[in-house]
Amino acid sequence: MKMVCLGGGPAGLYLGISMKLRNPENEVAVYERNRPDDTFGWGVVFSDQTVDNLMENDPRSGKAIADEFIHWDLIDCYVEGKVERSGGHGFIGLGRKRMLQLLHQRAEELGVELHFETEVDLDDIDGRFADADIIVASDGLNSKVRNSDLDNFECTIDVRPNKFVWLGTHQTFSDAFTFIFEKTEHGWIWVHAYQFDDKTSTFIVETTPEVYDAMGFEHMTHEESAETCRKIFEDYLDGHDLMTNSAHIRGSAWISFPYVKCDNWIKMTVSCSSATPPIPHTSRSALAPSSVWRTPYPWPSI
Ligand SMILES: Cc1cc2nc3c(=O)[nH]c(=O)nc-3n(C[C@H](O)[C@H](O)[C@H](O)COP(=O)(O)OP(=O)(O)OC[C@H]3O[C@@H](n4cnc5c(N)ncnc54)[C@H](O)[C@@H]3O)c2cc1C
Repeated sequence: MKMVCLGGGPAGLYLGISMKLRNPENEVAVYERNRPDDTFGWGVVFSDQTVDNLMENDPRSGKAIADEFIHWDLIDCYVEGKVERSGGHGFIGLGRKRMLQLLHQRAEELGVELHFETEVDLDDIDGRFADADIIVASDGLNSKVRNSDLDNFECTIDVRPNKFVWLGTHQTFSDAFTFIFEKTEHGWIWVHAYQFDDKTSTFIVETTPEVYDAMGFEHMTHEESAETCRKIFEDYLDGHDLMTNSAHIRGSAWISFPYVKCDNWIKMTVSCSSATPPIPHTSRSALAPSSVWRTPYPWPSI
């Protein structure tokens, strides 16, 4: 089988690895617009159960990932300075960039073809990828393929109202996954912080649209937003700055989470010969979006 993955994030890479493991004769090519070391965001977390699933599917990459992760069991929740600690959660954290590097290595080892700095267009589906048996739309949240045919994929997109910004810090929060809720003069703003390497933590700040507007985040540069957040949470930062790497986002660094739901993940294209009745001789499908990645991230509700 010949498969092409449009997009080389975790979904496209891990699907490529999985297809090769199931049958080394499968031909899999992954096309990614970025360079191997470009990525957005900071660290990601997985539950212990997700790591078990990775180990079951591919012990080699599962172990490589698990060996690099920071593991913790506790969650600290600070509300206006008072902390509640709970245990037994079992989570691990790893830099997104490092995770992609490990997946690149494993994919190449298994013979997956990786093409970087290659932008894919919709025309390519029937153009240069015309001989593929399966085309997978692993092009992420803003998938061009999915957005080009929302009706076929029975897709609904619900953009949630809260705003968040994904920052990093050298304050490590090494004891526990940490939530911090602070009440400003305009209302509540809160943080999800977790360590992902020996000197860095992810620091996601989230707030309501009302507080976002009142604080003026919409009109701040990325650096101004980071500095404003640093001042709000400085009691927890031990003198460390908040860092931004969101140059790929135009305008404000703050975005909203869309809830994307596809009831159909397949689009079949059948080419017919001139015989009567038509005899399908090629069948291809675009799956949108591939989602082999599980997201066990413990978003709290308040
Ligand atoms: C703030 C935040 C925190 C998160 N934390 C976690 C977490 O802790 N744990 C967790 O499991 N998940 C987390 N997630 C979710 C996680 O990031 C996604 O589930 C995951 O990235 C989805 O993988 P993907 O491969 O489908 O898409 P992406 O990671 O978006 O990858 C898509 C790839 O396709 C490429 N691409 C797109 N269009 C084209 C094109 N036309 N041509 C070529 N290439 C293209 C892009 O460059 C990109 O590399 C978080 C997300 C956010 C925003």
